[in-house]
Amino acid sequence: MERSVIVTGGSRGIGRAIAIGAATAGYQVCVNYARNAEAAGEVISLIQSAGGKAIAVQADMTKEADILRLFETVDTELAPLGALVNNAGIVDKGSKVENMSLERLERMFATNITGPFLCAREAVKRMSTAHGGKGGVIVNISSVAAKLGSPGEYVDYAASKGAIDVMTLGLAKEVAAEGIRVNAVRPGIIYTEIHASGGAPDRVERFKSMVPMLRGGQPEEIADAVLWLLSDKSSYVTGSLIDVTGGR
Ligand code: NDP
Repeated sequence: MERSVIVTGGSRGIGRAIAIGAATAGYQVCVNYARNAEAAGEVISLIQSAGGKAIAVQADMTKEADILRLFETVDTELAPLGALVNNAGIVDKGSKVENMSLERLERMFATNITGPFLCAREAVKRMSTAHGGKGGVIVNISSVAAKLGSPGEYVDYAASKGAIDVMTLGLAKEVAAEGIRVNAVRPGIIYTEIHASGGAPDRVERFKSMVPMLRGGQPEEIADAVLWLLSDKSSYVTGSLIDVTGGR
């Protein structure tokens, strides 16, 4: 049976690697993005040239109307929804808590937890066997920051990722009997553009010395864990928070 997957923030970085891997694994893929249509288009071309089916859908994770439109587009254009990867996320410049503005906090939490929460809600409505669905899988992209707390720089980011971990634990139990598995992957420091967007392009180099394996990770090394969770190879795994951190 054909199934589709929505990868939020699937146009760049970790989400891009997940989208390409999911297509190779046989999913029809919805590549969500916020601003960069060109990057999303490149992912679609790559998937289509390998014989896969994919669409790009612009939707800002901070806007409920966009999220509803995203899911409705997938309903009409792709196979029934079988999986959601809540990957889109942001980090801001390093700052102490005492200097964090309300605007920064609202943007951080809207993108990193409210958006994923609303996406999970829409996915459950479609996948739950209690609502006539065929079951499915949700993978939330958290962060090692959720266990470290990131003091002095990114406590807001860490808190948003802590929230996604707890959502994972609660939702997994809530929908386990409805055929839906819910897990989180917690990446360590990974080579992507998120570090430049947070105004700290040297972050990977700086954090690398704290990694027991003494290197940053590649997006594909996160995607491999996600793809396992999206597959039947993990059919008895739910409510798990899986660290992919080089030992950090
Ligand atoms: P990137 O900055 O490389 O890519 C972010 C992606 O998310 C882009 O596709 C971007 O789309 C999209 N995006 C950003 N904001 C929104 C929004 N409001 N609505 C919809 N899409 C949005 O990030 P990474 O690949 O590094 O990060 C992916 C996830 O992994 C994040 O949740 C991050 O917190 C987490 N993570 C990353 C780590 C790392 O070291 N890289 C470490 C731990 C966790 P567009 O280009 O259109 O803006």
